[in-house]
Amino acid sequence: MRYLTTWLKPTGSRTIVLYLLLAASVVTLAAGDEPPKRRLFITLDAVPFQVAADVMDPALGDEALFQGFKGPTRLVSTFPSSTSAAVPGILGPIGLKRSPGYEARFFDWQERKVRGGGAVSYGRIEFPWRDFFDWGRKGIAGSAIEAVKPVKSGIKRLRNAMDDFVQSDKDEFWIYSAATDIAGHVLSPEAIKEFFHALDEMILDARRASPDRPFDVVVFSDHGMDGGEPLINLFKPAKKALQQSGYRVKKRLEGPRVVVLTPFGLVSNFEAYTEVENKGPVAEILAGVEGVDLCAYELEEGWRVESHRGSATFRQQVRDGELWWSYEPHHGDPLDFLDEVEEMKSAGLVRDGWLPDEAIFEASAEAENPDPFYRVARAFEVVTNPASVICSASRGYMYGAPRTAFMAKVGKGRLRWTHGALNREATLGFLFSDVEDWQAPEAVRFDRAILPFHAPVEREPEAAASDPSR
Ligand SMILES: [Zn+2]
Repeated sequence: MRYLTTWLKPTGSRTIVLYLLLAASVVTLAAGDEPPKRRLFITLDAVPFQVAADVMDPALGDEALFQGFKGPTRLVSTFPSSTSAAVPGILGPIGLKRSPGYEARFFDWQERKVRGGGAVSYGRIEFPWRDFFDWGRKGIAGSAIEAVKPVKSGIKRLRNAMDDFVQSDKDEFWIYSAATDIAGHVLSPEAIKEFFHALDEMILDARRASPDRPFDVVVFSDHGMDGGEPLINLFKPAKKALQQSGYRVKKRLEGPRVVVLTPFGLVSNFEAYTEVENKGPVAEILAGVEGVDLCAYELEEGWRVESHRGSATFRQQVRDGELWWSYEPHHGDPLDFLDEVEEMKSAGLVRDGWLPDEAIFEASAEAENPDPFYRVARAFEVVTNPASVICSASRGYMYGAPRTAFMAKVGKGRLRWTHGALNREATLGFLFSDVEDWQAPEAVRFDRAILPFHAPVEREPEAAASDPSR
């Protein structure tokens, strides 16, 4: 109903609005006795698709969780596959604004220096996604406590959130849980199963507690989690490689041959910020570091990818309202896509060398690097201060500040699990729901995932990063 009133307001006539509202409620009543359902959205940070698939496996029979729900669907996240990019990537179509950077510590193009990442700046620098949720992350204190016993404290917080939902009179309620991310990093994604068992109970309890106010539920994660063995930090070798090639690594972009790096949390992506003429050489240097899977940067038209697998340019084009891509390797096959191109050719899908976006998504949603063209291209749009060069770590590697605050909190030895990379395990989140008309697809791209459940909302204009030289 809220949408109806919002939509009608511009007509300006209160009488008409009132009349239409009355008419609408008559129609609603006449259509059936059931009141409209409330809708509960739950975002569980960093839960891999496979964990949701395991607990919902129909082969478990009565033991399967979330009976009556459809899915899980693979939610193909942004690149980087991390929260500050992915949550606005998923919720942008319903109005959530972008983050200033890929992480809390980021490069600011206006000031041409590194900013953020401290306890003070946490409140001072706006990351709009943190305030989007009715129940979510209000400060860093909560996550420090959660790091000690992430599953137990996370379940407790989720229970409080569900109680608030039951008592709330909102038609639509949004819950965000960071505890699943911490549990995944510190323990393993398997530890999240306990969380799912508790959530399943909580949803049933909430339904019992509000028999006269029915609701449906949409549960999803923003990206996955990859690892298993102790991860090797790429920060020092990456910095050294740049220095050995004559670049100065600094925190401020000033002077010739300067590259700014922003090591912070331990993740499997990283970025470099530099003058436009340095982007090509810097991408090649970084892609040559052992443990780097690929690096990419924007061209005036298209994008260039450097990898130990080769080098390529790819471009996009909109034809008849449809998105198409071209893939032009200079040598090798950095995006591992030449076999798919051949298959699309034999299937008659390729038009003058252009590949249809939909077919690329279908062909690569479960590939080692899912949906690579769209995700690499959008990596330079998902935040307001985009990288000059963005890199994805190979499996087994990570990148971050050698003594990051996160590790201090964790204190449980070397990190084995993280996300951020382009690869499948880091990328694939999940989505399941019991919304009536929805059928669960095999996979959905991040920026289409929420639209079956929520009307689109135009995003307010944002202060764009504004350095034309990048
Ligand atoms: Zn996340």
